[in-house]
Amino acid sequence: MNCPSCKKPISEDASFCQYCGASIKAQEKPVEEFGFKTFVIWFPPGKGGSYSLKDGTEFAARAFFWGVTQEFVHKILATIAPMFVPISEVGPGAVKLRYHSGGIFSDEWVEKTEIRIALKGSPQSRLNEAQKRLNEIFREMNKKGEMICEITD
Ligand SMILES: [Zn+2]
Repeated sequence: MNCPSCKKPISEDASFCQYCGASIKAQEKPVEEFGFKTFVIWFPPGKGGSYSLKDGTEFAARAFFWGVTQEFVHKILATIAPMFVPISEVGPGAVKLRYHSGGIFSDEWVEKTEIRIALKGSPQSRLNEAQKRLNEIFREMNKKGEMICEITD
């Protein structure tokens, strides 16, 4: 780049001009802002498993559903870790439930509908890289039709 004052060529990371001494303001350098994304796994109706509330509480249901998916979720988070880090709970609290009232012959039960984890990262330069790494994993999982994974805004 060139010095905004004397217009002589100076290095990209200069804080001041070596010729005229003018200070180079931070806003004249490219600044990459952190961005926020959400990692979501959707479970289509009938694919979220079931947990009877006769045998446990809503908390127990979340813990159960988290237990069966945490290996996969951690694999995803490890894959995108250089680019994105979680900023919401990575645990049973990330599991959303749908309630089903019981009938005469069955007790009230729940199924998991989604797992949602908020992420912080730098989408401008790195989301594409993260997405490329994830596409293969997602394609494999989404092909089975048991869940739909996405990184969304
Ligand atoms: Zn200068």
